[in-house]
Amino acid sequence: MREGEGAGAALLEALKAAACAAVDARRGALLHVAHEIHAHPELAFEERRAAELLVATLRAEGLAVEAPAYGLATAFESRAGASGPTVALLAEYDALPDIGHACGHNLIATAALGAGLALASLGERLPGRVRVVGTPAEEAGCGKELMARAGAFDDVDAALMIHPAGVDLVTMPTLALAEVDVRYRGVAAHASGMPERGVNALDALVTAYQAIAQLRQHIKPTERVHGIFTEAGAAPNVVPERAAGRFYVRSRDAAELVPLKRRVEGCFRAGAEATGCSVEIEWREPDYLELRTSWPLAERYQRNAESLGRTFFPYDKLPPSALGTTDMGNVSHRVPSIHPMIAAAPIHCSIHNAEFAEHAGSPTGDRAALDGAKALAMTALDFLLDADLRRRVREQFDAARSR
Ligand SMILES: [Zn+2]
Ligand SMILES: [Zn+2]
Repeated sequence: MREGEGAGAALLEALKAAACAAVDARRGALLHVAHEIHAHPELAFEERRAAELLVATLRAEGLAVEAPAYGLATAFESRAGASGPTVALLAEYDALPDIGHACGHNLIATAALGAGLALASLGERLPGRVRVVGTPAEEAGCGKELMARAGAFDDVDAALMIHPAGVDLVTMPTLALAEVDVRYRGVAAHASGMPERGVNALDALVTAYQAIAQLRQHIKPTERVHGIFTEAGAAPNVVPERAAGRFYVRSRDAAELVPLKRRVEGCFRAGAEATGCSVEIEWREPDYLELRTSWPLAERYQRNAESLGRTFFPYDKLPPSALGTTDMGNVSHRVPSIHPMIAAAPIHCSIHNAEFAEHAGSPTGDRAALDGAKALAMTALDFLLDADLRRRVREQFDAARSR
């Protein structure tokens, strides 16, 4: 060991201990935030109450916060630290229609907030710059891409967040995702009196839906197409003049998304062709990109979380079908990023259902938020203090980008 390494390691451990103690000291305030956001779920781009609460909690500790930020009304950014490398801690806080915080974004927000406050509390001992970035609209709208285009990550060296799940996992296996609206227009008529005059838009949508169901047998195991009807007629005795649906199309990465999108468009056109309706296909920009994990950082995160007593599910033992999508993918194409999962529910319980929403507001959710804050803070300190880690993070990121 060279002289100085021992002292560096001791300083790192001392700062990690101080950051964890700072999270514990804020336990009450942090869990208040977690529970408040949980109790008042807000949809993408409408997270006013959550954003206000997070901003107020940051300002109450004297942090400088810009809000709104990067062109989104419910985005914000706090800054701490005078010089050195910059770490962004990302907070999500949008919920799902009908099932509230079934993705546990209240815990993501609380973990980022807790880590940001703990690191800021180090004052002059903070070995770099730390931002808490409030990122709206993860569940729909791809908020992080919009913020990235407005410059949110231009001078960030690493972006860190956690996501709750049924297990602790070093990262999340993801798919790229495109969202599409399809609208058919036909001719209304009395469904009994003059059916021969009608052109049935619902029939067009049903035909397209069936065509997509057939397509599914012949796509890759890493591809997904799924959707809902958003408009399907007004009365059984009126031939529907208009019908509409919204579908998600997912592939392993953005490149594989392109041909699958074309095949889905073919299904949509088949519905129009079969019925004589007109069709309008609108791909909703931007696409969600696949996540590129910064493995050197993710491994540090795992070690830090294990030091808090967490046990990780082996990443290589995951069922191959366990695939999600996150707009953190879009950030990860720009800066080295991690998106580990933290257990906030029993292993059988997956996100996006009502049972998970209950866990996100329970003591297991609380523990995930506080452990998540500590593990994020410790990982940020690893990055800020360890020049060798920063070099490896950069090298791996550049290599992944040039592939
Ligand atoms: Zn989520
Ligand atoms: Zn979700």
